[in-house]
Amino acid sequence: MDCLFCKIVAGDIPANKLYEDEHVVAFHDISPQAPVHFLVIPKKHISTLNDITEDDRFLAGHILYTAQRLAKEQGCEEGFRVVMNTNKNGGQTVYHIHLHVLGQRQLEWPPG
Ligand code: IMP
Repeated sequence: MDCLFCKIVAGDIPANKLYEDEHVVAFHDISPQAPVHFLVIPKKHISTLNDITEDDRFLAGHILYTAQRLAKEQGCEEGFRVVMNTNKNGGQTVYHIHLHVLGQRQLEWPPG
């Protein structure tokens, strides 16, 4: 298992966790780009958004549901952004899908 986020799921690498259930884990990003910046990941290894299957539809929705619930808990009432970088041109660096949740500052558009 040579996947960083699988190791976080397994507890082999420490993470600053906000939430965990049987399907997902959420933890603070190690290099935050906003005052609130956490990641929501499935426990199941899925490399990229392109690899989501029909069977993963509940999981995909649950990731989004968890993201907005935790964003509210983190005080992002004035807004936040969710991003899932996909493959090289999308800027993906860790190949285990993760939804970035960023908030508590004014975010710009378009992103770089
Ligand atoms: P990507 O570039 O969209 O794939 O995002 C990967 C994210 O994972 C980056 O924002 C990194 O800062 C973050 N990251 C990498 N390693 C760790 C870790 O060990 N704990 C928490 N976040 C991490």
